[in-house]
This record gives sequence, structure tokens and C-alpha cells, in this order.
Amino acid sequence: MVCERINSIKQTLPEGVRLVAVSKYHPASMIQEAYDGGQRIFGESHVQELVQKYEALPKDIEWHFIGHLQTNKVKYIAPFVSLIHAVDSEHLLKEIDKQAKRQGRTISVLLEVHIAQEETKYGWLPDELLAFMESGIWQQYENVSIEGLMCMATNTDDEGIIANEFERARELFETIKGLSYMVNAQWRERSWGMSHDYLIAVRHGSTMVRIGSSIFGERVYA
Ligand SMILES: *Cc1c(COP(=O)(O)O)cnc(C)c1O
Repeated sequence: MVCERINSIKQTLPEGVRLVAVSKYHPASMIQEAYDGGQRIFGESHVQELVQKYEALPKDIEWHFIGHLQTNKVKYIAPFVSLIHAVDSEHLLKEIDKQAKRQGRTISVLLEVHIAQEETKYGWLPDELLAFMESGIWQQYENVSIEGLMCMATNTDDEGIIANEFERARELFETIKGLSYMVNAQWRERSWGMSHDYLIAVRHGSTMVRIGSSIFGERVYA
């Protein structure tokens, strides 16, 4: 069931767009099922849950942390996380760099841009993010690789609003790409699109979609 859903989603993804199977709140057995069908990238948004699943499941899984990450919890995932999607402050970036250095590794990250209308969502305002990248300050963090942007669109049925937000994120991505500091950077990922809006996201530049409920079913929050 899980594998069939993954396969049918994959058929709708253009070449080069990767699928992050968002497994939060779902048991390790379902992840194993998807793994057995060939899926290797999984997304989680709670540190403790991710650590438990990492310990229980095959070691060649690429674990992506997609939720809001608290600075004091970075150390628990630093040994193994493949990509942290939602870096929303320099403070967090600095801590990831520090913990990566302690592990003797480089951690890949994306910066979360706040583009949706909701006030409650995390992320840099577009202007702040651009100013931070223009400043070049981030170059001192040698154990993080800043590889692109992540965003969430407004939760609405209005496809025009969603498309517009993804397009703004893409424009910001391109503007940053053009900065002189970016010549040697690995700036290439655009993480946008969830179960309900990923088809819009791939039309507006997504390179990575984060899909949970369309694969694993509705989440049951304990
Ligand atoms: C839970 C979550 C998703 C997946 O949402 P679905 O609607 O279940 O596809 C994607 N991105 C983030 C940041 C999430 O927290």
C-alpha cells in the first residue's frame, strides 16, 4: 500500500525532483515497508522520534529533519542527519556548525523563508534572508553547507495564492544564486510542496517535495 502510493507519486514528479517521505508519527514498520520498496529519504520533525527511528532502522536511510529545530537539541541529530530543512536563524546555523565540527562532519542545511500569510510560521523574512546571504557572514560557518531554501505555502484552497508564494521563493532563490559570494556554494535545492500542494510546487521550481499523509495516511497525534 505504502509502496504503491510512493510509486504513483513518483510518477507525477518531474526528472530531478526528489521525494522526502514524511514519516513523523508513523511507526518504524511503515518506514521499513517503504524502505523495502526502495525509498531512502525520510523526513521527521521531532528530535526524539527521529533518534529512535534512526537507531531502529537501516543505516543507509537519508534522514531529513524538516521541523522547527530547537538549538539545544541539535547535538542529538548531528551525528547522522543528512539534511536540516528549516534553519530559521543565524543562532541555529551557528549551533549546527558547532555540533557538526564536534562530529568531524559537514551538515547540509536549507534556510527557511517565511513567505506564507500565516503569522505563526517560522522562517526568515525574505529581505532579512537576502541581507544575511549578502553579508557573507555565513562563510565563517565552515561545517555547514548551505544548499538552498525551504518554504511552506499558506494553507488554502486558493491555488493562485500558493503558486504565487512558491514563485516568490523561487525568485529569492535565484537572486541569492546571483550573489558574488555564491560562486563556490552548493546552492541548488528548493524544498517546497506537501501532500496537498506538491503538484503546484513542482510547477514552481521545487527540487524536493515533502509528502506525508498521501503516503502514510493521516497522522494520529497522541
Ligand atoms: C508534516 C510536514 C510535511 C508533510 O505534510 P503532509 O501534508 O502530510 O504531506 C511537510 N513539511 C513539513 C515541514 C511538515 O512538518
